[in-house]
Formats: sequence, C-alpha cells, structure tokens
Amino acid sequence: MINILDKTFVPFISKEDIENRITALAARISKDYEQSCPVFLVVLNGAFLFASELVKRIPLTCEITFIRLSSYSQTESTGTVTEIIGIDKTLENRDVIIIEDIVDTGLTMSQLLKEIGKMSPKTVEIATLLHKPEALKTPVDMRYKGFEIANKFVVGYGLDYEGIGRNLDSIYVLG
Ligand code: 5GP
Repeated sequence: MINILDKTFVPFISKEDIENRITALAARISKDYEQSCPVFLVVLNGAFLFASELVKRIPLTCEITFIRLSSYSQTESTGTVTEIIGIDKTLENRDVIIIEDIVDTGLTMSQLLKEIGKMSPKTVEIATLLHKPEALKTPVDMRYKGFEIANKFVVGYGLDYEGIGRNLDSIYVLG
C-alpha cells in the first residue's frame, strides 16, 4: 500500500507482469514490422516509461518521436480540438505506431487518430499499456494491448496522480 497526497493506492500489476507483457508485445511488433521502418509516436507524459521499455526490446530500424496533445475549444459549436505538438517529420506513407499509457474513454485517442490520419500515413496502429473496456465511449481499434483493466483509477509506470507516481515501477490502483 502507498499513499500519494490524500489518496491510498494498493498494488495492482507487478513489475514482473508488466515486463513480461511488454516483452510479448515487443516480439509481436518486431515480427509485424520486420519489412518496415516504423515511426513510433510516444504520447507524453504518461507513455514515457512504457515506450522506453517497449522500444528497447524491438530490434528494428525505426524512428521514435515524442508528442504532446493540447486540447482547446475554438468555438462552442466546433467543440474541442486536439492539437499535436512535436511532430517533426512527415508521416506521409509511413507505418505509424502510437504508444500510449492508457486508453480510458478513447476520446483522446480518437482525436489523435483523426489528426494523424490527415498526415497521410500508410498505416496507423496503437500500442497501449492499459485499456479500460468498460470506460470506452467511442470505438478505438487497439492492435497491441498490455492489460485490460476495470474502470478504476491507476498510478505508476508513467501514470500519475496530481503529478506524482510516474516513477513507480509497478502499477497501483486506488484503494
Ligand atoms: P481518454 O481520453 O481515453 O478518456 O483518456 C486518456 C488519458 O486520461 C490518458 O492518456 C491518461 O492521461 C488519463 N487517464 C485515464 N485513466 C487514467 C487512470 O486510471 N490513471 C491515470 N493516472 N490517468 C488516466
């Protein structure tokens, strides 16, 4: 059990289980892209740890880029627009793999897919460490999934609570 600020979290997914799962995902990705030079788009901040553990197990010629998303509302009628910050290369005709920490409602990911789709990539797939199926509000096709979890708040392994907990080497759930 650990305390972060005012909340108590209990152990949920061990370091060993995370590492074994990442090794399996990396093997699949390495096989699926053996004829390609994919571009990994790492969504900061949360995916930094998952991404580094994943890509070091993938012995492919590849590129790795770090992106951030910023949401803003243009007008009330257009709703929220997601802007991608940090894409420093053309994605045209490239095989893109988005690396994300968690897909919860899927709204962030579907916005991101829409924006990346405008850049004319050849293919786009998603690698997410965690996924909460019960929370999904819009369909998102995730080819590489680490763990499907219940609709509960988690921290650790890149994920934070109020900025704290990203450095934990395993995943904890709100107790
Ligand atoms: P979505 O748009 O899919 O609802 O949310 C995606 C983002 O919400 C994630 O990238 C993550 O930053 C945040 N998020 C969703 N669920 C959790 C959670 O259980 N713990 C933490 N720390 N962040 C979460």
